[in-house]
Amino acid sequence: MPHDLPKAYDPTAVEDHWAEYWVREKLFSQPTPTQEGASSSQCFDILLPPPNVTGNLHMGHMFEHTESDILMRWHRMRGERVLWIPGTDHAGIATQMLVERQVVSEGSTRQKMGRDAFIKRVWQWREHYGGTILGQMKRLGASVDWDREYFTMDERLSVAVREAFVKLYEQGLIYRGAYIVNWCPRCQTAISDLEVVYDEHKGHLWEIRYPVIGDDGKDTGEFLTVATTRPETMLGDVAVAIHPEDERYTHLHGKKLRLPLMDREIPIITDEWVSREFGTGAVKVTPAHDPNDFALGQRHNLPSINVMDDTAHINDQGGKYSGLDRFVARKEVVADLESQGLLAGIKDHVNNIGHCDRCKTIVEPRLSLQWFIKIQPLADKAIAAVKEGHIKFTPEMYAKTYLNWMENIHDWCISRQLWWGHRIPAWHCYVCHKTTVSREDATKCSHCGSDKIEQSTDVLDTWFSSGLLPVSVFGWPGIATNGEGAPGPSHLGIRNSDRRDFDTFYPTSLLVTGFDILFFWVARMIMMGCWFSLDVKMPDGSDRPLSESVPFREVYIHALVRDANREKMSKTKGNVIDPIEIVKQYGTDAVRFTLASMASPGTDIAFNIARTEGYRAFANKIWNAARFMFMNIDRAAEAGITIDTAALGSMPTAAPGAPLESRWIVAELHATADKVNQALANYRFDDAANVIYQFFWGSFCDWYLEIVKLSLDVSEGADKSRTQAALTTLVSVFEASLRLLSPFMPFLTEEVWHALYDGKPPAKSIALTRFPQPARSDLDSAALEQMSLLQTLIIEVRAVRKEIGVEEKAAVPIELRIDQQQNAVISTNQAIIERLARVTGIRFVDQISSGLARHATPQFDVAVVYERKIDVAAECEKLNKEIAKQEKNVANSDRQLGNPAFTAKAPPHIVDGLKKQRDEAQHLLDKLRADRDSLAC
Ligand SMILES: [Zn+2]
Ligand SMILES: [Zn+2]
Repeated sequence: MPHDLPKAYDPTAVEDHWAEYWVREKLFSQPTPTQEGASSSQCFDILLPPPNVTGNLHMGHMFEHTESDILMRWHRMRGERVLWIPGTDHAGIATQMLVERQVVSEGSTRQKMGRDAFIKRVWQWREHYGGTILGQMKRLGASVDWDREYFTMDERLSVAVREAFVKLYEQGLIYRGAYIVNWCPRCQTAISDLEVVYDEHKGHLWEIRYPVIGDDGKDTGEFLTVATTRPETMLGDVAVAIHPEDERYTHLHGKKLRLPLMDREIPIITDEWVSREFGTGAVKVTPAHDPNDFALGQRHNLPSINVMDDTAHINDQGGKYSGLDRFVARKEVVADLESQGLLAGIKDHVNNIGHCDRCKTIVEPRLSLQWFIKIQPLADKAIAAVKEGHIKFTPEMYAKTYLNWMENIHDWCISRQLWWGHRIPAWHCYVCHKTTVSREDATKCSHCGSDKIEQSTDVLDTWFSSGLLPVSVFGWPGIATNGEGAPGPSHLGIRNSDRRDFDTFYPTSLLVTGFDILFFWVARMIMMGCWFSLDVKMPDGSDRPLSESVPFREVYIHALVRDANREKMSKTKGNVIDPIEIVKQYGTDAVRFTLASMASPGTDIAFNIARTEGYRAFANKIWNAARFMFMNIDRAAEAGITIDTAALGSMPTAAPGAPLESRWIVAELHATADKVNQALANYRFDDAANVIYQFFWGSFCDWYLEIVKLSLDVSEGADKSRTQAALTTLVSVFEASLRLLSPFMPFLTEEVWHALYDGKPPAKSIALTRFPQPARSDLDSAALEQMSLLQTLIIEVRAVRKEIGVEEKAAVPIELRIDQQQNAVISTNQAIIERLARVTGIRFVDQISSGLARHATPQFDVAVVYERKIDVAAECEKLNKEIAKQEKNVANSDRQLGNPAFTAKAPPHIVDGLKKQRDEAQHLLDKLRADRDSLAC
């Protein structure tokens, strides 16, 4: 029999205990399947978007993990083979920045430390602090497989990264070249287009006059004026471009200009790309500092002069400005141009300026030598995967966003000038100047055999490794069977034959993630998954089709969590809600339930603490219901009544002859379970949560428990079989409800469920039992209809009682006019009505007696037989007060409505609302006056 639950529910104690138990007992571990031919069809698996190793859990994570965990727990309870893989990302830039700051605060720099010592330091930092977010996930009960936890710099995953790089290189899909990249002078690395955030700034457009040189080599006195937002880049100008058909400049075709300040002759070139309408129609060309100019330079075979160093100071290509910071140089360049009379004008101009997403420094487009992935044919496959329906997006609109980006994708710059990350496996030869790319660390040049080689100092973009996760976590490349891919090193324990994980879990079922990493991560996983999984043939030895190459079959993009005023949470605004703090206050279950109850696809959540308070009350309600039930089980046991536990763990049923409340609550449970299953299948977490809430609080606690109390009599002479039947239904419905609620409130349900079985549960956890699956045939619609009639009647009687001021505790007779047919339902269940509506007898009548306060509904008329004993003086005083109040309301409304200035200006709905208010007040006033007259005040 159940053990006692403490009087009050204390989430903290309960949650700490079970969180630790789940991890210790490895409840959610999913070992590699042992059976041959394990198939992915009965599987439900997802990869956790790996949080940055530097991260702390924020509300966005908690939301994402809540939705994922509900799905995992639901699928697990449906008997599927479920796997949720956790891990952390080494987060190149973020981690390096963080440790660098520490090092600087200790008076050193990473450069002083040297690369090896610095990397060692980062690893130390990771050992100490890198597990924060996963620790928080453990405490919050995420049902992930901790045995499969990875870190993107783990040796096993690093092998995959190296294999992917070498393979793409061998396939001619990786190249090194000088291109314009977004350069962060603070981080001193190239960053991807996606890592640049643009802000509008009020800046200037400087117009500069370039002297035209005549055939004699002397200035002709004519000028060509160009406009620029970055005048300091003119130091690297190599040409000025005009449109070939621009008649203003036809006479300048083939002429040269003298580049001011640098005294360099540069050609005037013609190119159709130049817009005649923009500015003066003449464009300075600086291939090393602008992507469009770079393309122009390529077309016209122009040199590229890079005038800045890694820190965005002018280098020795910048003449007398060498050594100046870019913005200092800008001022001096402008001043010098002005003093030489070459500044034609300065115009105000709103600029879209790119900043480094990490450190907010203004990004400098700059020519540098980088590694790139040739994005075709990878992108084409990734487009086909979505177009052919092998990957489905929810909400659907994101498929369009994805395709649009994918169809306009550029080659991907994958090198970063950082120290923390996967170092690029390419070695430069100082003898033949060729590059050796190798799976093993190279000691000799593969071209000339020289040992004068050095490995590239660059590391790979963090997203290169996380893009590989769907294949690498399941054993690629060790399991590659196409012959081309090298088998994984034997010391990693991956054998060519050991591919059961891959066969079972790839493609994963679903990805739950945020919109912000749709391009960064989702798109890249699709590209890399569709490419590298081809190495792994199907279990039957056939080639892997595109439908089986995708990294996941569905992508669910969740919404954002905003504050209660729908503002985006941000540190600068100071409106960030720390989930850990809220959890301490209200319990994990209440916070999870809040998030779930507000989560519908495509709608941002306005997180409101009042809702969480409400759901903490919900948790208490369930707790108290459990205590009530346990108390009754104990009492019954003392009276020798034991409940039948045979049906526990399955879907409760009710015999046709069972009492109405039993048949009804079972039917309600089936209907609720049906709705919850459907809602979860459609990612309607909000519908699912709200349906459960209404069932548990409304149907079960407010109605059923109140009614069933009538049948729990254990006193001498009571009908014991009736008590036993009632208790059995009560316990089985409650137990099934716990299972229904378990994915949403895993801690509370675990505690109560274990208490119910008093230490001898049929499984290690409620999470390992079966989710309630409704049977359509058990949907007893007659019970639902009959109960609905009783409920309506009880509600109406309560309302009438309130209206005429029947004291709370007084039981009074009622008169009821109702169809003969329904008469029987009422008579049979008279005890229920008497108890719940505080009624002492029902008089069935053809017509309600005159003078009684009554309510009419389409099904029945009901009246309360009650003689009010009232204090006339007090009642008159009350009425007078109320009359005065309503008179004032009417007068106020009349004054406003009589004011033409107001009625002309106010929106029609405001005016209509006010008119309605006025009419209602007048109606109430008439009634009050009539009451006063009847009392003869
Ligand atoms: Zn930066
Ligand atoms: Zn060589």
